[in-house]
Amino acid sequence: MTRLHLGYTGAPLDKADHMRRDAAAIQAARMHPSARFLILDDLKPLMAEGGTDLFWARRSEIPTGLAIFLGLNADGEPRFAVDGKPDDDLPARATDARAAGALLADGRAAIIAQARSVLDWHRRHGFCANCGAPTEVQKAGYSRLCGSCGAEHFPRVDPVVIMLAEKDGLALVGRGPRFPAGFFSALAGFVEPGESLEEAVARELHEEAGIRVHGVRYGASQPWPFPSSLMMGAFATAEGFELALDESEIAEARWVSREEVRAALAGEADWKAPPPLAIAHWLLATWAGRP
Ligand SMILES: [Zn+2]
Repeated sequence: MTRLHLGYTGAPLDKADHMRRDAAAIQAARMHPSARFLILDDLKPLMAEGGTDLFWARRSEIPTGLAIFLGLNADGEPRFAVDGKPDDDLPARATDARAAGALLADGRAAIIAQARSVLDWHRRHGFCANCGAPTEVQKAGYSRLCGSCGAEHFPRVDPVVIMLAEKDGLALVGRGPRFPAGFFSALAGFVEPGESLEEAVARELHEEAGIRVHGVRYGASQPWPFPSSLMMGAFATAEGFELALDESEIAEARWVSREEVRAALAGEADWKAPPPLAIAHWLLATWAGRP
């Protein structure tokens, strides 16, 4: 089976965690002539004109703003992300991070996910959740330290399960109330404290669609940087076909065959499947590709 590339995965950078605690090493990396910077303008990454690659700015071209260390490329050259307003003269365009991710069908999109999630976290965590005092950036952007109570805060990752329930050659897809008309996807929901991935899958399917499942199988995962989700894709076996939808979450749901899924993925069905950037596409394609 060909393994499809999962959007926002496969970063081509060595994250060089050992450098993050070494302020002098980070400063030297920042000043190095080979250092390059991915500017995010209001969380939109700059793409080179034409949209076929990220735009890597030189240090002399970057705006004032928080810079976080992304890592080292294959040649050992440092790469950073900067939160700021770029100069209008740069041959680049600020691009919505979803659109940019879709344009880069390889590991470069993972750099966008890393940069966007971490910079967005800094924007929203300037104050200590423990005591309310201002916090300061540490470890090249991978933690914030409260100067008052000493609490250390780390960029968050929010686990989400996304799953295909299947039974007798049919899989369940649903349309959320805010989805465009005709667009169906795998069901999904946040993992709650105190439950396993398998339990979250079973609970969400029961809450949203009224079905019971067993045999939950993990498939694959992807980061989804809006703002900081980790999508964990799974399959599960349903015990029956009868649905009881929670209409605040699912406006419409249907059981579809592998043939119907293949047609939808090819754009030849009366419903639209998720685009290749999303793990729901991978779940559907993987399921439909099986004999
Ligand atoms: Zn504090």
